[in-house]
Amino acid sequence: MAVQTIAGNAITASVDLGPAVALSCRECGERFDLGPLFACASCFGPLEVAYDLPAGDPEALRKRIEAGPDNIWRYAPLLPVPADVADKPNLNPGFTKLVKADNLARELGVTGGLYVKDDSGNPTHSFKDRVVAIAVEAARAFGFTTLSCSSTGNLAGAVGAAAARAGLRSCVFIPHDLEQGKVVMAAVYGGELVGIEGNYDDVNRFCSELIGDPLGEGWGFVNVNLRPYYGEGSKTLAYEICEQLDWRLPDQIVIPIASGSQLTKIDKGFQELIRLGLVEDRPYRIFGAQAEGCSPVSAAFKAGHDVVRPQKPNTIAKSLAIGNPADGPYVLDIARRTGGAVEDVDDEQVVDAIKLLARTEGIFGETAGGVTVGVTKKLIEAGVIDPALTTVVLNTGDGLKTLDAVSSTSQATATIKPSLDAFRAAGLASA
Ligand SMILES: *Cc1c(COP(=O)(O)O)cnc(C)c1O
Repeated sequence: MAVQTIAGNAITASVDLGPAVALSCRECGERFDLGPLFACASCFGPLEVAYDLPAGDPEALRKRIEAGPDNIWRYAPLLPVPADVADKPNLNPGFTKLVKADNLARELGVTGGLYVKDDSGNPTHSFKDRVVAIAVEAARAFGFTTLSCSSTGNLAGAVGAAAARAGLRSCVFIPHDLEQGKVVMAAVYGGELVGIEGNYDDVNRFCSELIGDPLGEGWGFVNVNLRPYYGEGSKTLAYEICEQLDWRLPDQIVIPIASGSQLTKIDKGFQELIRLGLVEDRPYRIFGAQAEGCSPVSAAFKAGHDVVRPQKPNTIAKSLAIGNPADGPYVLDIARRTGGAVEDVDDEQVVDAIKLLARTEGIFGETAGGVTVGVTKKLIEAGVIDPALTTVVLNTGDGLKTLDAVSSTSQATATIKPSLDAFRAAGLASA
C-alpha cells in the first residue's frame, strides 16, 4: 500500500490496486509509486503497470478465474483493481461472444477456424468499456471526482456511462464533426460533452494542456493521466479469447489500430498467460489494421521504418482516426517480432467488409470492424495470413453508431401498397 500525493494538489489517497505494485517505464525500466502518472520522469517513456502476479499453481488460478463473474472481473487477480472490485458500482463489461464464423470462413477460404470476437456486446457497444472500467477504479483510488477523456467517439460514451454508474462527474472532449450516433451516446448519460473544432490530435493536445492547468485539477483523464491503468483493460481481450478457445492461444489475430494501445496490451496479455502457465507457449502472429485514410502505422510498417510519421486523417473509420498514434512504434515492434504485419484498406473496402460480416454472420460491426474484416480478407488474398491456421478477428464496435457508412446502400428492397397484388408485382414472392 503506497500513499500518493497528486502534484500541486492536496488530494492524498491510500492506493490499493490489487496485484499492481508500481509503474515502470517501458523504455528505461525506472519504477514509480502507483499514481496518476503516464510519462517517465527520467526519459519521458510511457509508464506501464507492474505486478506481483499469482505464481506457482496454474491449475488453481484457472479454476479461480472460471469460477468468477461473467465479466472482466473474473481476471481481477491479473488487473490493477482491488480484490473487492466486483462489489463496486461499475458497468462490468466483458466476456463478450467469440463467434465461430464458419460462413465468413467459407467465403474467405479459411480452413483452420475463423472467429469473430464481438465487442459490440459491451454496455456502451464498444471495446472501450473494458479500458474505462479499469480507469474508473484507478480514479477512485486516487480520489478523482471528475472523469474525462479525449475521444474519437466511443470512449466519450464509455466514460459518460461509467461515470454515471460510479457516481462521478464527467466532462469529455471529442472532435466536433463525429457521427450522430457517437455524439448522442456520449451526451445521453448526462455528463458534459465538449466538441472541439479540430481533429482528434487537436483534442488530445488540448487535453494535455488542461491536465497541466488549474482548470483540470482533480480530473482523471482516462487515456492521459490514467493511461497506464486504462491500457490494462485491453489485456482482458487476450484473456477472454484464450479462455474461450479452451485456454489456447490463437495462431493469428487481427486488431484495429487507433493509438495502438489495444494491440500492444493484447500482446502483453498473451505473454502474461504464457508466463503464468495458463496457456501453452506457442508462436502467435499479430496483425494490425488501419483505414487507408489514416494509416501512419501501416505506412511505416511497409516502408520498414521504426518511427511513425503523423498523418492528417480522412476516413469514414473515425473511431480509428488518430494521425499521431502514441503506441505506433511498439505496434511495429510487435508485428515484426511475431511475424505479423500492419495493413490498411480504403473506405470502399471498409463498407464492403461491414456488409460481408453482416451478410455472412449476422454481426453488424462499426467501421472499425469493417477495417479488421477488410484487412483480414486482403491479407488472406495476399498469402500473408495463413488460412489453415486458427484466426481471430476483432469487431470492436457496433454498426448502429456508424449508420452513415452503409445507409446509402442499405435500404428497403421495395416499398409497396399493403396488398398481395402489389407484393406479387414487386417480384419477391416465393411462387
Ligand atoms: C478506440 C477504438 C479502437 C482502438 O483503440 P487504440 O487506441 O488503438 O487502443 C478500436 N476500435 C474501436 C471501435 C475503438 O473505439
